[in-house]
Amino acid sequence: MKYDIAIVGGGPAGLSAAYSASKNGAKVVLFEKDPSFGHNVRTSGVSWIKEIEQFGIPKEFYNPIKNFSFVSPNNEISISGHEYTACVLDIKKTYQFLAIKAAKEGSELFVRSNVFDIKKNLEGKINGLKVSTPKGIVEIDSTLIIDASGFNSFISRKMGYAPLWQRYGVGAEYECYCDKINQETLFLLVGQKYSNAGYAWIFPLSDNLVRIGVGMGRPESTIDPLNKLNYIMENKLYPLNKMGKIQPIEVHYGMIPNEGLRKSFVYNGLMMIGDTAGQANPLVLEGIRYAIEFGQLAGKIGAKSLIYDSTMDSLEDYEYSCKKLLEKKILASLKVQSRWLALSDLDWDKEIDIIKDLTIDEFLDFIKSDFSNYKMMKLALNHPKLVARQLFNLVWSIRK
Ligand SMILES: Cc1cc2nc3c(=O)[nH]c(=O)nc-3n(C[C@H](O)[C@H](O)[C@H](O)COP(=O)(O)OP(=O)(O)OC[C@H]3O[C@@H](n4cnc5c(N)ncnc54)[C@H](O)[C@@H]3O)c2cc1C
Repeated sequence: MKYDIAIVGGGPAGLSAAYSASKNGAKVVLFEKDPSFGHNVRTSGVSWIKEIEQFGIPKEFYNPIKNFSFVSPNNEISISGHEYTACVLDIKKTYQFLAIKAAKEGSELFVRSNVFDIKKNLEGKINGLKVSTPKGIVEIDSTLIIDASGFNSFISRKMGYAPLWQRYGVGAEYECYCDKINQETLFLLVGQKYSNAGYAWIFPLSDNLVRIGVGMGRPESTIDPLNKLNYIMENKLYPLNKMGKIQPIEVHYGMIPNEGLRKSFVYNGLMMIGDTAGQANPLVLEGIRYAIEFGQLAGKIGAKSLIYDSTMDSLEDYEYSCKKLLEKKILASLKVQSRWLALSDLDWDKEIDIIKDLTIDEFLDFIKSDFSNYKMMKLALNHPKLVARQLFNLVWSIRK
């Protein structure tokens, strides 16, 4: 079988690329190794309503959030919004929605279809895939391959273009029934008590459904986040002790790159998107909206590249645009992250006081890593405390 574009992986990046490549006239096939899209949840699903609405994701697929609470071992601050800005996505419904959009545009989608090998032409250019599908082993040819296989970057590693990630986050999470939680408030729990290198979270999906998780940075910690999460749950550490009965109904586990963008993510006949390209914001483990945005861009540029046989030159606009929009943002986030990873519990008690002083808009810019020069300058001027200045100076040094 011959396709214009073959996509490996049906997460938000791959499905968005399929939709946009089909919309731009390409003959597209996508392979997902799980039995359905969103079947194996590897994310906590927090995103931002403005961006999610722009992607056309319906309101009934997310729980809106307006308040943000930070808990450290001996401190707690809350920032209340006037309107709903963040949301917790129903991952299965959202990914199925993205799949249906791609199918409507004409993409062929294969589930329970594991891509296990690649094909190359005599010049070494990738030009096909070998896939184990419910119909048996299938070989396809394709002018362009899009690697959307996520953290494991399967195709790019096979081609020798992408090493294993050295810095990454591992997260474990239970989706739980709980007797009562304020469904408009999300919690971030910081300090060693909650995570040895990272943070824990409580993200509500309704007033009695929550995701409770722990993220742990590698190589800073070798602890399995699931062990820490079990400890927090069994000992009902604050604020779990305020939530009544908590009963896990699902477990999620995943890994996210934490190094910034890959040096290069286009090659002859190959594009990397989403986590494969390192497009997530490491500060708060946020990658879904970038996976959708840059997945769509890759699909569009990929479809246009077909008349040039999808050479590296014809794909470079995608890498250029993505770097322009994301590179400094991610580098600044990494700087803040390395400061945060070095904090003791006592330091954290003081650090969250900086956040308390921010207005809701300043807080949202910070947590979304919207560190424009103008915004950072305003922040530094409005918050003269030494410790706040240190934080803003970190970001400022990258933005300049
Ligand atoms: C613990 C944790 C919490 C997170 N929380 C958030 C959050 O709250 N908000 C947010 O925005 N982001 C969050 N993220 C990040 C976010 O999940 C990712 O950035 C996003 O999912 C990246 O999308 P993707 O499509 O690139 O990769 P993925 O979502 O990983 O999708 C890759 C797909 O490829 C498939 N695949 C892999 N190999 C093959 C193969 N050989 N053949 C066929 N299919 C294959 C996989 O089964 C998978 O479905 C979190 C990540 C982790 C680990």
